[in-house]
Amino acid sequence: MPRLPSIPIERLIQEIGATYAESASRIMAILRELHPENYHPTAATVATHRIRSIVRGLDAEAVNWAAASIKTAYIESKGVTRVKLEAIGAKPSRKYDQARHSQAIDKRARAAARYFLDANATILATAGKYLSALAHAREKLDVYREEAAIEAFTSAEARKLVDAVIARGAAEHVPAQGVGRMILDRLMGILGETSFIEINGRNYNLKAYSELVARTTMREAQTDATKELCREYDNDLVQYSQHDSPCAECAQYEGEIYSLSGESPDYDELPPEAEPPTHPNCEHNLNPVSENSLRWSSA
Ligand SMILES: [Zn+2]
Repeated sequence: MPRLPSIPIERLIQEIGATYAESASRIMAILRELHPENYHPTAATVATHRIRSIVRGLDAEAVNWAAASIKTAYIESKGVTRVKLEAIGAKPSRKYDQARHSQAIDKRARAAARYFLDANATILATAGKYLSALAHAREKLDVYREEAAIEAFTSAEARKLVDAVIARGAAEHVPAQGVGRMILDRLMGILGETSFIEINGRNYNLKAYSELVARTTMREAQTDATKELCREYDNDLVQYSQHDSPCAECAQYEGEIYSLSGESPDYDELPPEAEPPTHPNCEHNLNPVSENSLRWSSA
């Protein structure tokens, strides 16, 4: 069975990835302008406003991307599935309500937009953490200079990092300005590599996460389209695709035949966990089959 053509899908994934990567560098540039030595609450407020407006822009772009790209993925898969259904002699049913296709697209597009919006909200939270760390660093640097009293701080994580750098600076007799630089480098290093987006306790960078969401939700839309078109064509059986290099998670499903309705006596109902994608970057899909087409292919 041919695989789903993936070129337009890849282009759409790269598009949203580039949008997020560009926003990441704009946010990094804003944060990089702030130094612990000359940190001031007003500057932090201005930075927060600027970052919030970038995130608001990302929100709008993500919602637009989801609406257009989920539709593209769905329609592409619908076309491929139609060719396969007609190849096995299936005929469209007049009873099928065509509105179901656009409902399926809308539902999946809304879910995709939700993933992006939730991730975007964590970008603001991360920037806030970073700014708190700078405020703390500023206070500690004053202490470092004057050995004055220390104020309590909110983010334990950031406080630990700053304290560790300060302790190293003290041990190595680094001047306050140098310690400020070291703090900034450490904070930037962490932000840049991994932790802009935080989902379920895991950290991701903007580009990688947006691409993961894009790929996953478009694959989901493709499976939706296959299932809906099988319904339109009254075709109950689907086969899990077989690849040269199956992913470990999919090995158990490869080549398996399932009933979409669960009403075929000889086949198990397709379990939700066997709907591609079953894991990040899964390239499997469902292909329509019938008892006749299976007899031909095994003959
Ligand atoms: Zn897979």
